[in-house]
Amino acid sequence: MSVGATQRPSLTTPDGEGNNRDKCLFCRIVDERSQDLTNLIYKDDEIVVFPDIRPAAKYHYLIVPREHIKNAKELTATHIRLVDRLVEVGQKIVNDKIIADHTAEGKQANLQEFPKVLGYHWPPFHTIAHLHLHVIAPSNEMGFISRTIFRPNSWWFVTPEYVKERLSKDVILPCGSETSNKSACDL
Ligand SMILES: [Zn+2]
Ligand SMILES: [Zn+2]
Repeated sequence: MSVGATQRPSLTTPDGEGNNRDKCLFCRIVDERSQDLTNLIYKDDEIVVFPDIRPAAKYHYLIVPREHIKNAKELTATHIRLVDRLVEVGQKIVNDKIIADHTAEGKQANLQEFPKVLGYHWPPFHTIAHLHLHVIAPSNEMGFISRTIFRPNSWWFVTPEYVKERLSKDVILPCGSETSNKSACDL
């Protein structure tokens, strides 16, 4: 399920971490240079999707930006559109999969029966230092440990709404300060 554009984004990020793409597993997957995982179920010019290797429920995908962003805390107001797209793509992938599986069995899917959990790890509680949105359904099928790992708005896992709220408050700080976004430096 590939949607058009093959154009690659710049491989350097504002903090100069572009040189680490060799070292980052998710960058290698995104760049399709990894032997570990080649099962990309969706890709476009800024997002790639693949299944979680340890699914917490029947449908469990990672929605990954091509840009190497370390974690949700590193996002700035310049990423609001990307953050919206991660959620949109994630919702659509899972809904499409559920519908396709039902259609294959000659059944009609009722998406209400597949509640979803969406969220990001919150530092320092992440294992892969490349931003990824988890989309899991049905959430009521998750075991105790998975419910703990992916507990929305815990200290270690936050919802897209929380992140969006935080970004919308991301005021433009003076150029050069740690969290300043690029636009401040363009002024
Ligand atoms: Zn990366
Ligand atoms: Zn994860």
